[in-house]
Amino acid sequence: MAKKVRLVNIRNNFGCKNRLFLPYSTNFRILALSKTNLIMNTYSIGIDIGGTNTDIGLVRDDGRCLAKKNLPTNKYYDASIYVSDIYSQIKYLMAENGVEAIDGIGIAAPAGNYYTGCIENATNLNFKGIVDLAAAFRSHIDVPVVVSNDANAAAYGELVYGGAKGMKNFITFTLGTGVGSGIVVDGKLVHGKTGGAGELGHAILIPEGRPCGCGRKGCLETYTSATGIRRTALEMIEGTPDYVGALSMVPPEELTSKMVGDAAKYGDALAIRVFEKTGYWLGIALANAVAFSGPEAIFLMGGPVKAGEVLMKPVRESFKKHLCFVYDGSVDVRVSELPDNDAAILGAAALSKA
Ligand SMILES: [Zn+2]
Repeated sequence: MAKKVRLVNIRNNFGCKNRLFLPYSTNFRILALSKTNLIMNTYSIGIDIGGTNTDIGLVRDDGRCLAKKNLPTNKYYDASIYVSDIYSQIKYLMAENGVEAIDGIGIAAPAGNYYTGCIENATNLNFKGIVDLAAAFRSHIDVPVVVSNDANAAAYGELVYGGAKGMKNFITFTLGTGVGSGIVVDGKLVHGKTGGAGELGHAILIPEGRPCGCGRKGCLETYTSATGIRRTALEMIEGTPDYVGALSMVPPEELTSKMVGDAAKYGDALAIRVFEKTGYWLGIALANAVAFSGPEAIFLMGGPVKAGEVLMKPVRESFKKHLCFVYDGSVDVRVSELPDNDAAILGAAALSKA
């Protein structure tokens, strides 16, 4: 026979109401329960600022993003109005989910500086110069506010909520419009002197290669980002006049890396070659990165990684081929265990508690 239970309302340290179901037989004394027996979830906010959209997530301390709101970043030209509108969305998120208090706000932003809490000279935002985001949020709410770039936030998310739990040394690479990376050494995220360490997407892979948005040539991201994959595909299509396949009918301006990935998964020979080249290049970059910090794993995330083994197999082959022998067998190349769309939100939220 099922035990009868009674519902008991308690309040946690933050004034939030929690409900406990206890057997009637339990000699219930709140003071006698140890802290670990109490179900006291805490919450924080993770904000992922992109050039087009801003995603705001309510994150529970077990790493679940409970709900999200969205604002169009590119419609704002005044940072104080932008922050004020984000704060309104935070209040909605809390009210709609019955959350009365948050522990902190973490923000993943382009050119976000961990030390200053500022966005500094972001090239893809309407806010020019230096914007003190942390101070702007603190004028609304008195909680810790942490700013970082999105790739570093994602790395921290992998450490706290993803596949790197318990690891002390690892690197993440995020393949998106560009290539971002985050480096964890001895259990700590590396911020460097400027607060923006870990820009391995701008490590030069091919001297005098493809022009990069940073003003130099041959950076990793010009070859292995979604944009780079698209470019490789266009070059290959142009160089293969007799190619007839899934991508040959797509107007060049409409071609995306996702289309190339889908074509590769369905066996299109040219698309597979595009991913073989991409994997070859990325494998070299990963092998070089290992020499820098001696990680136990490298995690890959982002849209192109969804192509699966079509990308991962050539990455691993090239990585193995180019890895210095002293690291043989010491490093795994793995796919991130964070949900792709929430990686930066979860990472930012985790950073706010770091
Ligand atoms: Zn570059």
